[in-house]
Amino acid sequence: MIPVIRPVLGEEEAEAVAAVIRSGWVAQGPRVAEFETAFAGRAGAAHAVATSSCTTALHLALLLAGVGPGDEVVVPSLSFIATANAVRYTGGTVVFADVDLATGNLTPKDVEAVLTPRTRAVVLVDQGGIPADLDAMRALCDPRGITVVEDAACAAGSEYQGRPVGAGAELTAWSFHPRKLITTGEGGMLTLRDEAAARRARRLREHGMSVSAADRHGSAKVVLEEYEETGFNYRMTDMQAAVGLVQLGRLDAIVARRRELAERYRRLLADVPGLACAGDPPHGRTNYQSFWVLLPDDHPIGRDDLLQRMLDAGISARRGIMAAHREPAYADVPADLPVTDRFTARSLILPLFHAMTAAEQDRVAEAVAARA
Ligand SMILES: *Cc1c(COP(=O)(O)O)cnc(C)c1O
Repeated sequence: MIPVIRPVLGEEEAEAVAAVIRSGWVAQGPRVAEFETAFAGRAGAAHAVATSSCTTALHLALLLAGVGPGDEVVVPSLSFIATANAVRYTGGTVVFADVDLATGNLTPKDVEAVLTPRTRAVVLVDQGGIPADLDAMRALCDPRGITVVEDAACAAGSEYQGRPVGAGAELTAWSFHPRKLITTGEGGMLTLRDEAAARRARRLREHGMSVSAADRHGSAKVVLEEYEETGFNYRMTDMQAAVGLVQLGRLDAIVARRRELAERYRRLLADVPGLACAGDPPHGRTNYQSFWVLLPDDHPIGRDDLLQRMLDAGISARRGIMAAHREPAYADVPADLPVTDRFTARSLILPLFHAMTAAEQDRVAEAVAARA
């Protein structure tokens, strides 16, 4: 079976976890702090706060943006459902905007169409790793006092305007789920520009505590913590962070390999009439977290039939990016999203992983190119 993705994990990760276990300190501690510093450096961000997932990082980001009941937050429906769910955790109202067919990302035009006086934030997703145009979105939102939160769950190692995604950005959420380029099993990160916001994020992820458990443990004096507001347990463990540190060291090689394989896919599929593929936008470079293809309307095989044929041939492809507004959980949200409907119905994600061979790629490309 050819998998859709396979994490790149080795003895180094196993050794790093074993060292944490031998140390006797397994919860959030020195390895988490080290991972945060390293990740902030790689992303060009001032501060990084590790979390239990990207979903929880998004929740914190929206709280820092001041989102609460009565506030509207614009999100793409074309995203993993966690993007919209995080808005609901705050009591805010989800407002769906349509996306651009070439990238699967929100554009200022799509967002402007759904703004109201109650819009408090926009969650801009770098869908499948393709960097969204953050500056253009901020040009729309900043003058209106609307915060742009970037959902970069898929975008570790992608570039925007020649710099890493997240460089200098206000609030960026990341994922280390195994479906992304680098993994800690589960895990996430929030990177931020503002120091006070970073302090509050650290407090909120740890029950609202004024002094972290790790800092109290390391102190020679008795420290009594205070609970300044209602927080959460969104902590990452030192076991996860130790894996993350090793994974971060592999990121450049993983991106390079994915880009090489993606270019080869693009060549192999160039002759399929009307087929569109994921690729770089004018303003950046993708890490190809997902290599999606968009079937033309007159493709000889329907999308779902094609997925079944591939499965029968031992190829684990996936439907393209989901659309939250088509799920029962969001049936109550008004949605007029023709591009999203088209994208989600006509796209599929092809297998792409570090150790993929040319022969495996050829098999996938042949299946996609097959005539009825
Ligand atoms: C994977 C993903 C998430 C959720 O990440 P978790 O770390 O699993 O919580 C959120 N948004 C997008 C766009 C994703 O692809």
